[in-house]
Amino acid sequence: MKDKAKLNVGSIEIAWLDGGSFHVDGGTMFGPVPKVVWERKIPPASDNDIFLVASPILVRTGQNNVVIDTGIGNKLTEKQAKIHGIRDKWALPESLKEMGLSPEEIDTVILTHCDYDHAGGVLAEKDGEIVPTFPDARIVMQRSEWEDVSHPNRRSAHTFWEINFRGLAECGRLDLVDGEREIVPGISVRHTGGHNRGHQVVRIESRGETAYHLGDLLPSHAHFNPLWVMSYDNYPMDVIDQKEKLEKEAMDENAWFLFYHDPVTRACKFGEKGILKEKFER
Ligand SMILES: [Zn+2]
Repeated sequence: MKDKAKLNVGSIEIAWLDGGSFHVDGGTMFGPVPKVVWERKIPPASDNDIFLVASPILVRTGQNNVVIDTGIGNKLTEKQAKIHGIRDKWALPESLKEMGLSPEEIDTVILTHCDYDHAGGVLAEKDGEIVPTFPDARIVMQRSEWEDVSHPNRRSAHTFWEINFRGLAECGRLDLVDGEREIVPGISVRHTGGHNRGHQVVRIESRGETAYHLGDLLPSHAHFNPLWVMSYDNYPMDVIDQKEKLEKEAMDENAWFLFYHDPVTRACKFGEKGILKEKFER
């Protein structure tokens, strides 16, 4: 997958990296929505499957190099890759290199949450060892998400894989947020819950322009309707409330919405009823 175009938000530069891709059952991505309705938005690739990417987003402010979410990583077993319908492998370091950056130059990694398809690239397998992908970056997440990673319940145990967090507590680079905080100038996070108890979103602002990364509250442009939740959402009523509130706030600012899982529409601006006013495609 080659996709190195950049979106500018004020003086901040935004680009999408190769975090892997997969096929997933369309029904699970659109929870309560009947197929005859969702297939008009994202046509199934085959049968009931739809194709999705897991695209970490590189944000360059001039002073800071920030990566939001890290893709599926390279530590999946063959069996896991099959179960999760992996198509394109994780190639984050390679795509970073194409952007002229090394992993050492990333100073901040923000995780919207810790499901394997978002946090799988924090650590990487290299020459038979598990090492930090970004050796000099602090890893930012909500404290409540980290608590749940440390003590997963029966459901989250399937997506919080120990191998994705091994040694993180001891490395001294975890930065746990309670609620809302500016992470670097122009980039702030806010706790939402909903998808996961400790899910957070990211707001980017520069020179009067804004962009929102709503993580898995809004995985693709097709999920605009607040009622269109996923079967993966742990607290769907919170997703509905938060999506409604944040979409309004962002639309009032004429903000860009950035997507992590959308294979075609990387970012867009929404008009009334979710009509796309402007779009940025791969
Ligand atoms: Zn996801």
